[in-house]
Amino acid sequence: MESRLPVMIAEDNAVSRKLLEKTLLNAGYEVACVKNGLEALNLLKKRFFPIVLTDWVMPVMDGLDLCRAIRQTATPGYVFIVLLTAKDSRQDLITGLQAGADEYLTKPFDPAELNARLNTGKRILELERSLRKANEEIRILSITDPLTGCYNRSYLTERLPQEIKRARRFHHSLSIVLCDIDHFKKVNDRHGHQAGDMVLQEFVRLIQRSIRQGTDWLARYGGEEFLIVAPETDVDTACIMAERLRNIVCGHRVSLPSGEIRITATFGITGFAPDIPEGEISSEVLIKRADLLLYRAKQRGRNRICAASLVSCEG
Ligand code: GH3
Ligand code: MG
Ligand code: MG
Ligand code: MG
Repeated sequence: MESRLPVMIAEDNAVSRKLLEKTLLNAGYEVACVKNGLEALNLLKKRFFPIVLTDWVMPVMDGLDLCRAIRQTATPGYVFIVLLTAKDSRQDLITGLQAGADEYLTKPFDPAELNARLNTGKRILELERSLRKANEEIRILSITDPLTGCYNRSYLTERLPQEIKRARRFHHSLSIVLCDIDHFKKVNDRHGHQAGDMVLQEFVRLIQRSIRQGTDWLARYGGEEFLIVAPETDVDTACIMAERLRNIVCGHRVSLPSGEIRITATFGITGFAPDIPEGEISSEVLIKRADLLLYRAKQRGRNRICAASLVSCEG
């Protein structure tokens, strides 16, 4: 069964309030009642109501001020406001709509008309919901690497500086691990580009399931290079993680249409401790350092890790 849409009624007159409540309950809404605009705002802060039905003249805060306040508040979604009032001049209607009401009804209300107006609200809310969903899907696409499903480079560029800032502010450590699949070009050459793609996908699956869920995250930095960001992790701990990942990767058999193959990867690890001197640490400096260490590990023979902590903000 579809859940009942919550509607808030703000009305100071007890008889009107009861009548409205009954009408809306009959129409299948979930209803909460308050006696003035301020109570409405306070309740709205605690719980979101997509529809607010408000009287105009009320003590403490009237319906007009309530409309204005709701329009100035950041709410989790659109609030469809119906102003229901005894004020019935054309100028009143204009003033009400200008304050932010979506619908304007005069008392005594006709239940059938009220329901019809609320149905307009439901259509608008449904439209907003589908737009939100579409936006969210686009946002996810825009930060996801289409081949492997992990975060992409542009997400990394946006998120890593935030993670660094946060770690610095709270005096936490942070480490990054740059991983590069060894001799990956040979995989492509021997097994084809499609097989290469499958190896990349498998590599990401292996890493994703082996990093700390909820805090550590993985992004594709470039072709066969991936970056793990490990907040609240010092370099020594990150080395233990990288060594574990290295073992997982080289111990795993990747199934390809042409048969099983083994791959190895090399890791460059860096990061900073909570006691690093004050100053800004840029993500570029951090990644550059990890890249240098990765290069060093490659030179030393691949399938290994190489690590160094950042000791000053200059890198
Ligand atoms: P090294 O051990 O020094 O890292 O050697 P490598 O062969 O892994 O490194 P190199 O940089 O020479 O080659 C990387 C290869 O990765 C070349 C490129 O064609 C391939 N590559 C990059 N992106 C993709 C992709 O999305 N799919 C596939 N199949 N291959 C890719
Ligand atoms: Mg009133
Ligand atoms: Mg590479
Ligand atoms: Mg490589």
